[in-house]
Amino acid sequence: LNDFANQKVLVLGLAKSGYAAAKLMMSLGADVTVNDQRDLSSNTHAADLAAIGVKVVDGGHPLDLIDSSVKLMIKNPGIPYKNPLIKKALELDVPVVTEVEIAGRLSEAPFIGVTGSNGKTTTTMLIGEMMKGSAYQPIVAGNIGTALTSVVQKATERNVIVAELSSFQLLGTRQFHPHVAVVLNIFDHHLDYHGTVENYAEAKAHITANQTASDALVYNADSERVVHFIAESSKAEKVPFSLKGRVENGAYVSEGTIYFKDEPIMKCDEMGLPGDHNLSNALAAVAAAGVYGVPVKYIAQVLRTFKGARHRLEYVDVVQGRTVYNDSKATNIIATSKALHAFPGKEIVLLAGGLDRGNTFDALIPDLKKAPIKAVLLFGQTQKKLLDACKKAGIPVIKEVENVEAAVPEAFALSQPGDVILLSPACASWDQYESFEQRGDIFITEVNKFR
Ligand code: ADP
Repeated sequence: LNDFANQKVLVLGLAKSGYAAAKLMMSLGADVTVNDQRDLSSNTHAADLAAIGVKVVDGGHPLDLIDSSVKLMIKNPGIPYKNPLIKKALELDVPVVTEVEIAGRLSEAPFIGVTGSNGKTTTTMLIGEMMKGSAYQPIVAGNIGTALTSVVQKATERNVIVAELSSFQLLGTRQFHPHVAVVLNIFDHHLDYHGTVENYAEAKAHITANQTASDALVYNADSERVVHFIAESSKAEKVPFSLKGRVENGAYVSEGTIYFKDEPIMKCDEMGLPGDHNLSNALAAVAAAGVYGVPVKYIAQVLRTFKGARHRLEYVDVVQGRTVYNDSKATNIIATSKALHAFPGKEIVLLAGGLDRGNTFDALIPDLKKAPIKAVLLFGQTQKKLLDACKKAGIPVIKEVENVEAAVPEAFALSQPGDVILLSPACASWDQYESFEQRGDIFITEVNKFR
């Protein structure tokens, strides 16, 4: 099954994961073709792969790339299943998988897999830090940035791979089987790809589908969807987590203290990360590290000192008395609604707006109303829609500005020492910026001009 020598492998999509998968397959002696619909004539990855003998086919998806002699297709997670090459592969019974499946089959190291609609990166990083206190050396990879197929060959049984896994990646798994699966939450995301919440949840359920009683499922007992779609049918040992009080065999908060299996870990208000959503992420990490027997003291130290992943409610600094947070990764309403409640007792000047995906912002109105918002600065394609939502919520000061660069001086003008200045756009960045990272970096550069 895992002998790829002289086997025909088609890699569909040449992004980071496709590049790593093609290189891995070449090193195992496979006969590898990479296909991408883009023109790759000036792509350095394509040139690298061609130099080691990979066939590169670009500018379309010719159907004759698939016939029954192809043993495996490794697809980019973002390519939909209605793609004609994928359809043909499935008709011919050629296995269609993502790199997660390949990494899972070839790795000597066990996996901790983390999935959910929001909080994956934060939780994956927390677990990565905590696992440094275990008997295994952690390797953090997956959706977080480093392809899994680029790390499996160096992973040994003394390592543990802490993998951030998206629903798109999980949908392309067959036998993948993490030792510890972590499921954070299921919100209404990506329904354009998956069609329905049931399909989306079913994709996420792949994370536990092949687990056995010697594995563990860490799951959010506060989410009905997670319990119903994931936990109820899992064969793994159940390790729940909850913000709402004691749970059996799991991590929970009770009277302001974090517990794992009824052992106190620390007070919630000592956490380095703000917000209840991060407390929930922290419980997930506590449970995963707890399964591996990481000492409680070590877990507590990570929770105290971990300041968050970049661009996720990232603490920037106190500048002219204003506490500044960069939450550029808040590309949906739920993330922004969490951020708005993360600073009890402080008034907020919010910077928001970005790519219009066709949704309304009505779902944000209750949070805009409840949160202590002093002023809102709006930019990007969704400016008018957000303006409408902010008016309905009765925000006292609303200003339309060109972009993040123009919003920052306004934010200083409209705030006073003691306030929070928060970039939490509730939208993706691609209407005005290359990425959420670029948007966040520009925000910080502009803020630094006020030092
Ligand atoms: P992901 O990797 O799943 O996108 P991140 O950790 O990168 O998650 O966080 C993305 C955004 O979602 C950030 O704005 C963050 O503040 C917010 N967020 C993080 N954890 C949660 C959670 N448990 N529930 C809701 N929102 C969250």
